[in-house]
Amino acid sequence: MNYALIFKGHDFAYEVQAIAKIFIPGVRFQLCRDDEIPTAENQIVTAINAERIDINILMHGKCLNDSCQCPEENAQQEYLLCRMLYQSLQLLTGYQPPWGMLTGIRPVRKVLDQLEQGFAPEQVCQTLQEQYLISDQKMQLALQTALIQKKILPHSPKQIGLYISIPFCPTRCSYCSFVSHSIQSAKNLIPAYIAKLCEEIAILGTLIRKYQLSVQSIYIGGGTPTAISAQQLSSIMQTIQENIDLCQVQEYTVEAGRADTITKEKLQVIRQMQADRISINPQTLQDAVLQKIGRCHTAQQVIDAYQLARQLGFDNINMDLIAGLPSDTYEGFADTLRKVIALHPDSITVHTLTLKRSADLYGSKQNTEISIVEKMAALSAQILPKSNYQPYYLYRQKNTIGNLENVGYAKPGKENIYNILIMDDRQTILGAGCGASSKIICQDNIVRVMNYKFPYEYISRFSQLMEKKIQIETELEKLA
Ligand code: SF4
Repeated sequence: MNYALIFKGHDFAYEVQAIAKIFIPGVRFQLCRDDEIPTAENQIVTAINAERIDINILMHGKCLNDSCQCPEENAQQEYLLCRMLYQSLQLLTGYQPPWGMLTGIRPVRKVLDQLEQGFAPEQVCQTLQEQYLISDQKMQLALQTALIQKKILPHSPKQIGLYISIPFCPTRCSYCSFVSHSIQSAKNLIPAYIAKLCEEIAILGTLIRKYQLSVQSIYIGGGTPTAISAQQLSSIMQTIQENIDLCQVQEYTVEAGRADTITKEKLQVIRQMQADRISINPQTLQDAVLQKIGRCHTAQQVIDAYQLARQLGFDNINMDLIAGLPSDTYEGFADTLRKVIALHPDSITVHTLTLKRSADLYGSKQNTEISIVEKMAALSAQILPKSNYQPYYLYRQKNTIGNLENVGYAKPGKENIYNILIMDDRQTILGAGCGASSKIICQDNIVRVMNYKFPYEYISRFSQLMEKKIQIETELEKLA
Protein backbone atom coordinates (compact mmCIF):
# COMPACT_ATOMS: atom_id res chain seq x y z
CA MET A 1 0.00 0.00 0.00
CA ASN A 2 1.55 3.20 -1.16
CA TYR A 3 -1.02 5.63 0.15
CA ALA A 4 -2.06 6.24 3.73
CA LEU A 5 -5.06 8.20 4.95
CA ILE A 6 -4.50 9.43 8.48
CA PHE A 7 -7.49 10.65 10.50
CA LYS A 8 -6.99 12.71 13.62
CA GLY A 9 -9.79 13.79 15.91
CA HIS A 10 -12.74 12.98 13.61
CA ASP A 11 -14.95 10.18 12.28
CA PHE A 12 -15.20 11.18 8.63
CA ALA A 13 -13.03 8.35 7.36
CA TYR A 14 -15.60 7.15 4.79
CA GLU A 15 -16.15 10.62 3.34
CA VAL A 16 -12.42 11.42 3.21
CA GLN A 17 -11.73 8.12 1.47
CA ALA A 18 -14.44 8.80 -1.11
CA ILE A 19 -12.84 12.15 -2.01
CA ALA A 20 -9.33 10.66 -2.13
CA LYS A 21 -10.57 7.90 -4.49
CA ILE A 22 -11.71 10.50 -7.04
CA PHE A 23 -8.08 11.54 -7.54
CA ILE A 24 -6.31 8.31 -6.69
CA PRO A 25 -8.56 5.59 -8.16
CA GLY A 26 -8.07 1.86 -7.88
CA VAL A 27 -5.75 1.81 -4.86
CA ARG A 28 -6.25 0.38 -1.39
CA PHE A 29 -5.42 2.99 1.20
CA GLN A 30 -3.69 2.25 4.46
CA LEU A 31 -6.11 3.69 7.04
CA CYS A 32 -4.57 5.05 10.24
CA ARG A 33 -6.34 6.66 13.18
CA ASP A 34 -4.86 9.25 15.50
CA ASP A 35 -1.54 7.85 16.73
CA GLU A 36 -1.17 4.88 14.39
CA ILE A 37 2.04 5.18 12.38
CA PRO A 38 1.64 4.85 8.59
CA THR A 39 4.14 2.88 6.54
CA ALA A 40 3.04 4.18 3.12
CA GLU A 41 5.23 6.87 1.61
CA ASN A 42 2.35 8.99 0.27
CA GLN A 43 0.33 10.37 3.16
CA ILE A 44 -2.85 12.39 3.50
CA VAL A 45 -3.48 13.67 7.01
CA THR A 46 -6.87 15.14 7.91
CA ALA A 47 -7.20 16.57 11.41
CA ILE A 48 -9.90 18.36 13.37
CA ASN A 49 -9.66 19.92 16.80
CA ALA A 50 -11.82 22.46 18.64
CA GLU A 51 -10.27 25.37 16.74
CA ARG A 52 -8.98 24.18 13.38
CA ILE A 53 -9.35 21.85 10.48
CA ASP A 54 -5.99 20.87 8.96
CA ILE A 55 -5.00 19.02 5.83
CA ASN A 56 -1.40 17.91 5.22
CA ILE A 57 -0.57 16.02 2.06
CA LEU A 58 2.71 14.46 1.10
CA MET A 59 2.41 12.85 -2.33
CA HIS A 60 5.04 11.88 -4.87
CA GLY A 61 7.57 14.17 -3.21
CA LYS A 62 5.19 17.16 -3.25
CA CYS A 63 3.81 18.71 -0.10
CA LEU A 64 0.64 20.74 0.45
CA ASN A 65 -0.94 22.09 3.64
CA ASP A 66 -4.22 23.88 4.24
CA SER A 67 -6.22 24.86 7.28
CA CYS A 68 -9.26 26.82 8.37
CA GLN A 69 -11.22 27.71 11.44
CA CYS A 70 -13.37 24.84 12.69
CA PRO A 71 -17.15 25.42 12.65
CA GLU A 72 -19.26 24.10 15.52
CA GLU A 73 -21.67 21.93 13.55
CA ASN A 74 -20.66 18.39 12.71
CA ALA A 75 -22.13 18.48 9.18
CA GLN A 76 -20.24 21.68 8.41
CA GLN A 77 -17.00 20.25 9.71
CA GLU A 78 -17.45 17.24 7.41
CA TYR A 79 -18.25 19.43 4.41
CA LEU A 80 -15.33 21.83 4.96
CA LEU A 81 -12.88 19.01 5.54
CA CYS A 82 -13.94 17.27 2.30
CA ARG A 83 -13.91 20.48 0.30
CA MET A 84 -10.44 21.44 1.49
CA LEU A 85 -9.15 17.97 0.72
CA TYR A 86 -10.79 18.04 -2.71
CA GLN A 87 -9.28 21.41 -3.60
CA SER A 88 -5.85 20.42 -2.31
CA LEU A 89 -5.83 17.21 -4.34
CA GLN A 90 -7.04 19.13 -7.37
CA LEU A 91 -4.07 21.47 -7.02
CA LEU A 92 -1.60 18.65 -6.55
CA THR A 93 -2.83 16.41 -9.36
CA GLY A 94 -4.13 19.02 -11.83
CA TYR A 95 -7.20 16.81 -12.38
CA GLN A 96 -10.62 18.49 -12.73
CA PRO A 97 -13.25 15.86 -11.87
CA PRO A 98 -16.33 16.49 -14.01
CA TRP A 99 -18.72 15.62 -11.19
CA GLY A 100 -16.74 17.69 -8.71
CA MET A 101 -16.85 16.41 -5.16
CA LEU A 102 -20.17 14.66 -5.65
CA THR A 103 -19.52 11.02 -4.85
CA GLY A 104 -23.05 9.56 -4.66
CA ILE A 105 -24.49 7.36 -7.37
CA ARG A 106 -27.66 9.41 -7.92
CA PRO A 107 -26.89 13.02 -8.82
CA VAL A 108 -30.32 13.37 -10.44
CA ARG A 109 -32.00 12.68 -7.09
CA LYS A 110 -30.36 15.80 -5.66
CA VAL A 111 -31.72 17.87 -8.53
CA LEU A 112 -35.22 16.36 -8.22
CA ASP A 113 -35.31 16.97 -4.46
CA GLN A 114 -34.66 20.65 -4.97
CA LEU A 115 -37.06 20.98 -7.90
CA GLU A 116 -39.75 19.36 -5.75
CA GLN A 117 -39.08 21.90 -3.02
CA GLY A 118 -40.05 24.55 -5.54
CA PHE A 119 -36.66 25.91 -6.57
CA ALA A 120 -36.25 27.09 -10.16
CA PRO A 121 -33.89 25.05 -12.38
CA GLU A 122 -31.31 27.87 -12.49
CA GLN A 123 -31.32 28.13 -8.70
CA VAL A 124 -30.91 24.37 -8.37
CA CYS A 125 -27.88 24.40 -10.69
CA GLN A 126 -26.31 27.34 -8.90
CA THR A 127 -26.73 25.78 -5.45
CA LEU A 128 -25.44 22.36 -6.45
CA GLN A 129 -22.52 23.72 -8.45
CA GLU A 130 -21.45 25.95 -5.58
CA GLN A 131 -21.78 23.13 -3.12
CA TYR A 132 -20.21 20.30 -5.10
CA LEU A 133 -18.10 22.08 -7.74
CA ILE A 134 -19.80 20.18 -10.58
CA SER A 135 -18.81 21.10 -14.15
CA ASP A 136 -21.32 22.98 -16.31
CA GLN A 137 -21.64 20.06 -18.69
CA LYS A 138 -22.49 17.48 -16.01
CA MET A 139 -24.82 19.90 -14.25
CA GLN A 140 -26.80 20.39 -17.46
CA LEU A 141 -26.89 16.63 -18.03
CA ALA A 142 -28.28 16.04 -14.53
CA LEU A 143 -30.82 18.86 -14.89
CA GLN A 144 -32.13 17.73 -18.29
CA THR A 145 -32.44 14.18 -16.98
CA ALA A 146 -34.30 15.34 -13.86
CA LEU A 147 -36.76 17.45 -15.87
CA ILE A 148 -37.66 14.47 -18.08
CA GLN A 149 -37.92 12.12 -15.07
CA LYS A 150 -40.18 14.51 -13.19
CA LYS A 151 -42.89 13.92 -15.79
CA ILE A 152 -42.61 10.12 -15.51
CA LEU A 153 -42.28 9.40 -11.78
CA PRO A 154 -45.32 7.62 -10.33
CA HIS A 155 -47.71 8.98 -7.80
CA SER A 156 -49.51 5.87 -6.62
CA PRO A 157 -47.75 3.52 -4.15
CA LYS A 158 -49.87 0.73 -5.60
CA GLN A 159 -48.15 0.92 -8.97
CA ILE A 160 -45.23 -1.48 -8.99
CA GLY A 161 -42.53 -2.90 -11.26
CA LEU A 162 -41.83 -6.59 -11.84
CA TYR A 163 -38.35 -7.97 -12.54
CA ILE A 164 -37.74 -11.50 -13.84
CA SER A 165 -34.21 -12.88 -13.85
CA ILE A 166 -32.88 -15.31 -16.45
CA PRO A 167 -29.22 -15.55 -15.45
CA PHE A 168 -27.79 -17.42 -18.43
CA CYS A 169 -25.56 -16.26 -21.28
CA PRO A 170 -23.93 -17.99 -24.25
CA THR A 171 -20.46 -17.24 -22.83
CA ARG A 172 -19.19 -14.85 -20.20
CA CYS A 173 -17.97 -11.41 -21.33
CA SER A 174 -14.65 -10.49 -19.76
CA TYR A 175 -15.93 -7.30 -18.10
CA CYS A 176 -19.11 -8.88 -16.70
CA SER A 177 -19.83 -8.80 -12.98
CA PHE A 178 -23.40 -10.11 -13.09
CA VAL A 179 -24.42 -13.49 -11.81
CA SER A 180 -24.50 -15.10 -15.20
CA HIS A 181 -23.82 -18.68 -16.16
CA SER A 182 -22.87 -20.02 -19.54
CA ILE A 183 -25.67 -21.96 -21.19
CA GLN A 184 -23.28 -24.83 -21.73
CA SER A 185 -22.26 -25.26 -18.11
CA ALA A 186 -25.78 -24.66 -16.74
CA LYS A 187 -27.57 -26.77 -19.37
CA ASN A 188 -28.85 -29.39 -16.92
CA LEU A 189 -30.10 -26.83 -14.43
CA ILE A 190 -32.16 -24.76 -16.82
CA PRO A 191 -35.41 -26.82 -16.94
CA ALA A 192 -35.56 -27.00 -13.11
CA TYR A 193 -34.74 -23.30 -12.88
CA ILE A 194 -37.54 -22.36 -15.26
CA ALA A 195 -40.03 -24.53 -13.35
CA LYS A 196 -39.18 -22.77 -10.06
CA LEU A 197 -39.15 -19.37 -11.69
CA CYS A 198 -42.66 -19.95 -13.04
CA GLU A 199 -43.77 -21.05 -9.58
CA GLU A 200 -42.40 -17.85 -8.08
CA ILE A 201 -44.06 -15.69 -10.75
CA ALA A 202 -47.39 -17.35 -9.93
CA ILE A 203 -46.90 -16.64 -6.20
CA LEU A 204 -46.09 -13.01 -6.92
CA GLY A 205 -49.15 -12.82 -9.18
CA THR A 206 -51.31 -14.00 -6.27
CA LEU A 207 -49.84 -11.32 -3.98
CA ILE A 208 -50.33 -8.64 -6.63
CA ARG A 209 -54.01 -9.55 -6.97
CA LYS A 210 -54.55 -9.94 -3.23
CA TYR A 211 -53.24 -6.46 -2.48
CA GLN A 212 -54.75 -4.92 -5.60
CA LEU A 213 -51.46 -3.68 -6.96
CA SER A 214 -51.05 -2.67 -10.55
CA VAL A 215 -47.94 -3.65 -12.49
CA GLN A 216 -46.70 -0.62 -14.42
CA SER A 217 -43.60 -2.18 -15.96
CA ILE A 218 -42.13 -5.64 -16.48
CA TYR A 219 -38.45 -6.22 -17.15
CA ILE A 220 -37.07 -9.61 -18.10
CA GLY A 221 -33.31 -9.32 -17.66
CA GLY A 222 -30.33 -11.40 -16.75
CA GLY A 223 -27.96 -12.61 -18.03
CA THR A 224 -29.35 -12.77 -21.52
CA PRO A 225 -32.98 -13.96 -21.49
CA THR A 226 -32.74 -14.89 -25.18
CA ALA A 227 -29.92 -17.32 -24.37
CA ILE A 228 -32.52 -19.99 -23.49
CA SER A 229 -34.60 -21.68 -26.20
CA ALA A 230 -37.71 -20.11 -27.75
CA GLN A 231 -39.87 -22.77 -26.04
CA GLN A 232 -38.33 -22.07 -22.64
CA LEU A 233 -38.74 -18.32 -23.05
CA SER A 234 -42.29 -18.89 -24.18
CA SER A 235 -43.16 -20.91 -21.06
CA ILE A 236 -41.88 -18.14 -18.76
CA MET A 237 -43.71 -15.42 -20.68
CA GLN A 238 -46.86 -17.51 -20.78
CA THR A 239 -46.75 -17.78 -16.99
CA ILE A 240 -46.44 -14.00 -16.80
CA GLN A 241 -49.42 -13.63 -19.12
CA GLU A 242 -51.51 -15.98 -16.97
CA ASN A 243 -50.65 -14.30 -13.67
CA ILE A 244 -50.28 -10.61 -14.39
CA ASP A 245 -52.92 -8.28 -15.78
CA LEU A 246 -51.05 -7.08 -18.86
CA CYS A 247 -53.76 -4.52 -19.70
CA GLN A 248 -52.37 -2.29 -16.96
CA VAL A 249 -48.73 -2.71 -17.96
CA GLN A 250 -47.33 0.39 -19.65
CA GLU A 251 -43.98 -1.13 -20.62
CA TYR A 252 -42.82 -4.71 -21.02
CA THR A 253 -39.14 -5.22 -21.79
CA VAL A 254 -37.17 -8.31 -22.71
CA GLU A 255 -33.44 -7.86 -22.74
CA ALA A 256 -32.41 -9.65 -25.92
CA GLY A 257 -28.84 -8.63 -25.16
CA ARG A 258 -26.37 -10.46 -27.29
CA ALA A 259 -26.85 -10.74 -31.02
CA ASP A 260 -25.63 -14.34 -31.03
CA THR A 261 -28.76 -15.38 -29.09
CA ILE A 262 -31.37 -13.62 -31.22
CA THR A 263 -33.46 -15.67 -33.65
CA LYS A 264 -36.64 -15.01 -35.57
CA GLU A 265 -38.47 -17.62 -33.48
CA LYS A 266 -37.49 -15.99 -30.15
CA LEU A 267 -38.43 -12.52 -31.38
CA GLN A 268 -41.80 -13.88 -32.50
CA VAL A 269 -42.36 -15.39 -29.03
CA ILE A 270 -41.57 -12.02 -27.43
CA ARG A 271 -44.07 -10.24 -29.66
CA GLN A 272 -46.80 -12.86 -29.30
CA MET A 273 -46.45 -12.67 -25.52
CA GLN A 274 -47.05 -8.92 -25.67
CA ALA A 275 -43.65 -7.54 -24.69
CA ASP A 276 -43.24 -4.23 -26.48
CA ARG A 277 -39.63 -3.29 -25.83
CA ILE A 278 -36.39 -5.14 -26.42
CA SER A 279 -32.78 -4.28 -25.87
CA ILE A 280 -30.19 -5.40 -28.40
CA ASN A 281 -26.81 -4.53 -26.95
CA PRO A 282 -23.83 -4.18 -29.24
CA GLN A 283 -21.61 -2.58 -26.51
CA THR A 284 -19.33 -1.73 -29.44
CA LEU A 285 -19.49 -2.17 -33.20
CA GLN A 286 -15.73 -2.70 -33.49
CA ASP A 287 -15.12 -6.37 -34.32
CA ALA A 288 -11.65 -6.43 -32.73
CA VAL A 289 -13.03 -5.04 -29.46
CA LEU A 290 -15.97 -7.48 -29.50
CA GLN A 291 -13.47 -10.31 -29.82
CA LYS A 292 -11.29 -8.91 -27.04
CA ILE A 293 -14.19 -8.81 -24.57
CA GLY A 294 -15.37 -12.31 -25.43
CA ARG A 295 -18.70 -11.41 -27.04
CA CYS A 296 -18.45 -14.12 -29.73
CA HIS A 297 -20.43 -12.17 -32.32
CA THR A 298 -19.64 -9.61 -34.98
CA ALA A 299 -20.88 -6.08 -35.50
CA GLN A 300 -22.77 -7.29 -38.59
CA GLN A 301 -24.68 -9.83 -36.48
CA VAL A 302 -25.88 -6.98 -34.26
CA ILE A 303 -27.07 -5.03 -37.29
CA ASP A 304 -28.79 -8.11 -38.74
CA ALA A 305 -30.54 -8.85 -35.42
CA TYR A 306 -31.69 -5.24 -35.17
CA GLN A 307 -33.06 -5.24 -38.71
CA LEU A 308 -34.83 -8.53 -38.15
CA ALA A 309 -36.51 -7.10 -35.03
CA ARG A 310 -37.65 -4.04 -36.99
CA GLN A 311 -39.04 -6.27 -39.77
CA LEU A 312 -41.03 -8.18 -37.15
CA GLY A 313 -42.61 -4.94 -35.98
CA PHE A 314 -40.69 -4.00 -32.82
CA ASP A 315 -41.07 -0.26 -32.44
CA ASN A 316 -39.21 0.24 -29.18
CA ILE A 317 -35.63 -0.99 -29.34
CA ASN A 318 -32.82 0.04 -27.02
CA MET A 319 -29.12 -0.41 -27.72
CA ASP A 320 -26.47 -0.41 -24.98
CA LEU A 321 -22.92 0.83 -25.52
CA ILE A 322 -19.92 0.85 -23.21
CA ALA A 323 -17.29 3.60 -23.17
CA GLY A 324 -13.84 2.48 -22.09
CA LEU A 325 -13.80 -1.14 -23.23
CA PRO A 326 -10.33 -2.72 -23.37
CA SER A 327 -8.53 -1.93 -26.64
CA ASP A 328 -11.26 0.48 -27.79
CA THR A 329 -10.13 3.95 -28.87
CA TYR A 330 -11.84 7.32 -29.00
CA GLU A 331 -12.12 6.97 -32.78
CA GLY A 332 -13.53 3.45 -32.43
CA PHE A 333 -16.13 4.62 -29.92
CA ALA A 334 -17.07 7.61 -32.11
CA ASP A 335 -17.47 5.29 -35.09
CA THR A 336 -19.69 2.93 -33.05
CA LEU A 337 -21.81 5.82 -31.86
CA ARG A 338 -22.29 7.10 -35.42
CA LYS A 339 -23.23 3.65 -36.71
CA VAL A 340 -25.70 3.04 -33.90
CA ILE A 341 -27.36 6.42 -34.41
CA ALA A 342 -27.65 5.59 -38.13
CA LEU A 343 -29.74 2.54 -37.18
CA HIS A 344 -32.26 4.83 -35.38
CA PRO A 345 -32.95 2.75 -32.28
CA ASP A 346 -35.53 4.28 -29.95
CA SER A 347 -33.09 4.62 -27.10
CA ILE A 348 -29.35 4.33 -26.61
CA THR A 349 -27.78 3.70 -23.22
CA VAL A 350 -24.16 4.68 -22.78
CA HIS A 351 -22.39 2.99 -19.88
CA THR A 352 -18.88 3.65 -18.70
CA LEU A 353 -16.90 0.51 -18.02
CA THR A 354 -17.20 -0.80 -14.49
CA LEU A 355 -14.86 -3.50 -13.31
CA LYS A 356 -16.04 -5.25 -10.19
CA ARG A 357 -14.18 -8.00 -8.38
CA SER A 358 -16.21 -10.75 -10.07
CA ALA A 359 -15.20 -9.60 -13.58
CA ASP A 360 -12.49 -11.60 -15.37
CA LEU A 361 -10.77 -8.34 -16.26
CA TYR A 362 -10.72 -7.07 -12.66
CA GLY A 363 -7.22 -6.00 -11.65
CA SER A 364 -5.85 -6.17 -15.20
CA LYS A 365 -4.13 -3.12 -16.60
CA GLN A 366 -6.20 -3.08 -19.77
CA ASN A 367 -8.26 -0.03 -18.87
CA THR A 368 -8.59 2.83 -21.27
CA GLU A 369 -7.20 6.11 -19.92
CA ILE A 370 -9.61 8.23 -17.88
CA SER A 371 -9.23 11.24 -20.15
CA ILE A 372 -10.25 9.16 -23.20
CA VAL A 373 -13.30 7.72 -21.45
CA GLU A 374 -14.27 11.24 -20.39
CA LYS A 375 -14.03 12.29 -24.02
CA MET A 376 -16.21 9.33 -25.06
CA ALA A 377 -18.88 10.26 -22.49
CA ALA A 378 -18.69 13.92 -23.52
CA LEU A 379 -19.09 12.98 -27.19
CA SER A 380 -22.23 10.99 -26.38
CA ALA A 381 -23.70 13.90 -24.42
CA GLN A 382 -22.89 16.21 -27.31
CA ILE A 383 -24.07 14.28 -30.35
CA LEU A 384 -26.99 12.19 -29.08
CA PRO A 385 -29.23 15.17 -28.24
CA LYS A 386 -28.52 16.52 -31.74
CA SER A 387 -30.06 13.32 -33.10
CA ASN A 388 -33.14 13.74 -30.89
CA TYR A 389 -32.01 11.44 -28.07
CA GLN A 390 -32.48 13.19 -24.72
CA PRO A 391 -30.95 12.00 -21.43
CA TYR A 392 -33.67 10.49 -19.22
CA TYR A 393 -31.85 8.39 -16.68
CA LEU A 394 -28.46 8.65 -15.16
CA TYR A 395 -26.57 6.93 -12.42
CA ARG A 396 -23.00 6.51 -11.36
CA GLN A 397 -21.49 3.26 -10.20
CA LYS A 398 -18.60 2.71 -7.90
CA ASN A 399 -15.47 1.63 -9.77
CA THR A 400 -16.45 3.22 -13.09
CA ILE A 401 -13.52 4.64 -14.98
CA GLY A 402 -13.06 8.28 -13.95
CA ASN A 403 -16.09 8.12 -11.64
CA LEU A 404 -18.24 8.69 -14.69
CA GLU A 405 -21.87 7.91 -15.29
CA ASN A 406 -24.23 5.63 -17.17
CA VAL A 407 -26.78 7.58 -19.15
CA GLY A 408 -29.93 6.45 -20.92
CA TYR A 409 -30.83 8.62 -23.92
CA ALA A 410 -34.21 8.22 -25.58
CA LYS A 411 -36.35 9.70 -28.29
CA PRO A 412 -39.34 11.54 -26.78
CA GLY A 413 -41.89 9.05 -25.41
CA LYS A 414 -39.45 6.12 -25.53
CA GLU A 415 -37.92 6.57 -22.07
CA ASN A 416 -37.62 3.30 -20.14
CA ILE A 417 -39.91 3.62 -17.13
CA TYR A 418 -38.38 0.64 -15.32
CA ASN A 419 -34.85 2.08 -15.43
CA ILE A 420 -35.99 5.40 -14.02
CA LEU A 421 -38.03 3.87 -11.24
CA ILE A 422 -35.46 1.36 -10.08
CA MET A 423 -32.93 4.13 -9.68
CA ASP A 424 -35.29 6.47 -7.93
CA ASP A 425 -36.18 4.12 -5.07
CA ARG A 426 -39.74 5.39 -5.13
CA GLN A 427 -41.54 2.43 -6.57
CA THR A 428 -42.02 -1.05 -5.20
CA ILE A 429 -40.31 -3.65 -7.37
CA LEU A 430 -41.03 -7.35 -6.98
CA GLY A 431 -38.30 -9.64 -8.27
CA ALA A 432 -38.42 -13.29 -9.30
CA GLY A 433 -35.53 -15.62 -10.03
CA CYS A 434 -32.02 -15.96 -8.71
CA GLY A 435 -30.11 -12.79 -7.99
CA ALA A 436 -33.36 -10.81 -8.08
CA SER A 437 -34.41 -8.68 -5.16
CA SER A 438 -37.74 -7.24 -4.10
CA LYS A 439 -37.86 -3.70 -2.83
CA ILE A 440 -40.97 -2.54 -1.05
CA ILE A 441 -41.34 1.19 -0.62
CA CYS A 442 -43.52 1.99 2.35
CA GLN A 443 -43.91 5.55 3.59
CA ASP A 444 -40.25 6.43 3.24
CA ASN A 445 -39.21 3.07 4.59
CA ILE A 446 -37.55 0.69 2.13
CA VAL A 447 -37.55 -3.05 2.79
CA ARG A 448 -35.37 -5.26 0.61
CA VAL A 449 -35.72 -9.01 0.31
CA MET A 450 -33.01 -10.79 -1.66
CA ASN A 451 -33.41 -14.04 -3.55
CA TYR A 452 -30.55 -16.52 -3.59
CA LYS A 453 -27.73 -15.55 -5.90
CA PHE A 454 -27.02 -18.78 -7.79
CA PRO A 455 -29.40 -21.03 -9.77
CA TYR A 456 -28.52 -24.24 -7.88
CA GLU A 457 -29.28 -22.51 -4.54
CA TYR A 458 -32.46 -21.02 -5.94
CA ILE A 459 -33.66 -24.45 -7.02
CA SER A 460 -32.58 -26.45 -3.98
CA ARG A 461 -33.65 -23.92 -1.34
CA PHE A 462 -36.80 -22.75 -3.08
CA SER A 463 -39.12 -23.62 -0.18
CA GLN A 464 -36.97 -21.58 2.24
CA LEU A 465 -37.04 -18.72 -0.23
CA MET A 466 -40.82 -18.84 -0.36
CA GLU A 467 -40.91 -18.49 3.43
CA LYS A 468 -39.21 -15.14 2.92
CA LYS A 469 -42.22 -14.09 0.83
CA ILE A 470 -44.09 -13.77 4.13
CA GLN A 471 -41.89 -10.77 4.83
CA ILE A 472 -42.83 -9.33 1.44
CA GLU A 473 -46.49 -9.96 2.15
CA THR A 474 -46.29 -8.20 5.53
CA GLU A 475 -44.85 -5.15 3.81
CA LEU A 476 -47.30 -5.28 0.89
CA GLU A 477 -50.18 -5.23 3.39
CA LYS A 478 -49.02 -1.77 4.39
CA LEU A 479 -49.49 -0.56 0.83
CA ALA A 480 -53.14 -1.67 0.91
S1 SF4 B 1 -24.11 -10.73 -22.04
FE1 SF4 B 1 -24.28 -9.32 -20.31
S2 SF4 B 1 -24.83 -10.61 -18.56
FE2 SF4 B 1 -24.08 -11.97 -20.17
S3 SF4 B 1 -21.92 -12.28 -19.73
FE3 SF4 B 1 -22.05 -10.57 -21.15
S4 SF4 B 1 -22.18 -8.75 -19.90
FE4 SF4 B 1 -22.60 -10.49 -18.56
